[in-house]
Amino acid sequence: MLGAIDVRDLVGHPGSSREEPVVGMVEGLATELARVPDDAPIRADLLLESVIEGILVSGQVRGRWTLRCARCLVEFDQPFGLDLHELFVSHPDEEADTYPLGPDGQLEPDQMIRDVVGVEMPFSPLCRSDCQGLCATCGGNRNLGECPGHAELDQRFAVLADLFPDLPNLD
Ligand SMILES: [Zn+2]
Ligand SMILES: [Zn+2]
Repeated sequence: MLGAIDVRDLVGHPGSSREEPVVGMVEGLATELARVPDDAPIRADLLLESVIEGILVSGQVRGRWTLRCARCLVEFDQPFGLDLHELFVSHPDEEADTYPLGPDGQLEPDQMIRDVVGVEMPFSPLCRSDCQGLCATCGGNRNLGECPGHAELDQRFAVLADLFPDLPNLD
């Protein structure tokens, strides 16, 4: 929880603005191959601007996520930095892409941060662009040289030799 930000000083005063840094844990940020770990707080440097419609929130969200390589399944950490630009209004329209402003002038940034970070989580992360992945035959991590290599071509020729025993030997 990042906690609510009191914006009573801004509501109804278009043109006024304030910087508000927030730091904390945001729960629920995990997909199959990416997650923000419990010990990695998210920091958001927010600029709150009062506009006619409500409060415009912009700034940068920074943190660290743990990714699992889609090819070799090794986990690795990576920092992220994302820009955000969202509008908070007193009476959100279900159609519009806005967030609700509390009736007592409270702005809850958690859901906004969850959305901004969640959307950008890598869908198919790679530990490195040339990751060799796991061997489909033995399951060894090819990056680590765990797979001894398998003579697939030889096996294919062996099958051919069984099917056509009369083929001339090319050796
Ligand atoms: Zn990998
Ligand atoms: Zn192998």
